[in-house]
Amino acid sequence: MALESDGETVDVIVVGAGLAGLSAARELEAAGLSCQVLEAQETPGGRVRSSVGENGHPMEDGAQFLNRDMTALVELVHEAGLELVAGGAEGETAGLGSRGFIEADTWLNELSDAWPGLVSSAGLRSGRPDLTVTELIRKVTADPQGLALMQSSLCELLCHAPDELSAQAVLEIFARYESAREDGEYQVSGSLDTLVAWLAAGLPRAPRYDTAVTAVTRGAEEGKGGFDVITPKGVYHAAAGVILAVPPLAAREIELPPPLAEDLRPALESFVPGAMVKTTLVYRRAFWRQPSAWGRPAPLSEIVCLEPMGTTLLDTTRPGEESARLTLFTGGHRAHDLALADRTERRAYAIEMLAGIFGGDEARHPLDFTDAVWVQHPWCGGGYNAHVRFGGLPNAAARLRQVEGGLQFACSEIAERFPGYMEGALNAGKSAAARLIRRL
Ligand SMILES: Cc1cc2nc3c(=O)[nH]c(=O)nc-3n(C[C@H](O)[C@H](O)[C@H](O)COP(=O)(O)OP(=O)(O)OC[C@H]3O[C@@H](n4cnc5c(N)ncnc54)[C@H](O)[C@@H]3O)c2cc1C
Repeated sequence: MALESDGETVDVIVVGAGLAGLSAARELEAAGLSCQVLEAQETPGGRVRSSVGENGHPMEDGAQFLNRDMTALVELVHEAGLELVAGGAEGETAGLGSRGFIEADTWLNELSDAWPGLVSSAGLRSGRPDLTVTELIRKVTADPQGLALMQSSLCELLCHAPDELSAQAVLEIFARYESAREDGEYQVSGSLDTLVAWLAAGLPRAPRYDTAVTAVTRGAEEGKGGFDVITPKGVYHAAAGVILAVPPLAAREIELPPPLAEDLRPALESFVPGAMVKTTLVYRRAFWRQPSAWGRPAPLSEIVCLEPMGTTLLDTTRPGEESARLTLFTGGHRAHDLALADRTERRAYAIEMLAGIFGGDEARHPLDFTDAVWVQHPWCGGGYNAHVRFGGLPNAAARLRQVEGGLQFACSEIAERFPGYMEGALNAGKSAAARLIRRL
């Protein structure tokens, strides 16, 4: 088989050109180690992906929002020549049940206030048996409406039905989200693709695209040591290390050398794929901000629908934009249903949902539309992130963070800080690179 790599040996091979992989590569190169990134898709970015809508409006199909205290990301945004702009219009959050709007902020605040206590009483460190996320939130309230609201909000955030997920693993993740800022404080002035392209262009060796890694083995060539990284296009050789900067669900498709493969299987198999469909509609004006839209004087910027569970609507209008935007996030089981429909059906579903809430006059006439189906994504895992199923290892992320030796893992799911976010991905990439640098 011809070696596309021309047989050249680098110090480290990084698998995956998402934010974790690109930040790992950047860090390694800065420390004087040569590095080759291999990426399965034709472009970098992974779960960061910009596009344009049917009528040309710029859209973010994947990650979009950040907070000021996500410092690694904020620094990169500025280095790449982009600016932070407001995350969306300000307003209240409402719940929407079968009998109309309910006030949601009180319930959601109750959930976040209860969280630190839950971490210590039901978290990994409590030594008590695990429970599901649904059982966990029953500890916060017994009120049926409050429960339904928390269930739906968590189903969207976790991209998975909460009664199937490990409460201890989720508590650990949330405990590592250290932001003191309002969620979704900022977005960037241009597109996030620019940031990703800037990161990739800064590497001395361009990433190899369309190069899916199928296996990593200990270096076969006598005296060379290191690792062979197998792809359909050829075998790449790393003298010192490999960083698997791919989500856990993609990592478990890669054959790993023994005994690591057996050691890590329980952790890798603990993760279940999320499911998310992100839909953005652009309108001439923000009709949902009219006080009459929900019967309270304050404008509305977010709606958590109790049915179907896992559905949230968010005002994502950028400052200075002439038009206004609503983004519909559909997670969990309903996202699976939508993934089976075609785009025209998904468009009709989104528009009819808005028409049902706000009346049809304006809702039925968007200026632009786009939707991004992440469900069962072959390389990125299906949702915002993968989470640990109930019955899996609640400490699966820690297990992947603590692998000893020349093969390291990095992805947003296992980050020490801000897991599940772009900041977490950068953090995980940097940490994996630092572990290899220390070793060498
Ligand atoms: C719809 C959506 C909305 C989101 N919103 C936000 C948000 O507003 N704010 C925020 O901070 N975060 C958000 N996130 C989460 C954020 O995007 C991710 O946590 C982060 O981008 C993950 O980065 P990563 O590098 O860990 O993984 P990925 O971005 O998944 O990168 C992994 C890369 O590895 C490649 N790969 C996989 N397998 C192989 C293989 N075998 N060989 C070679 N390459 C391989 C993949 O193609 C991919 O490019 C969102 C995610 C989604 C999907």
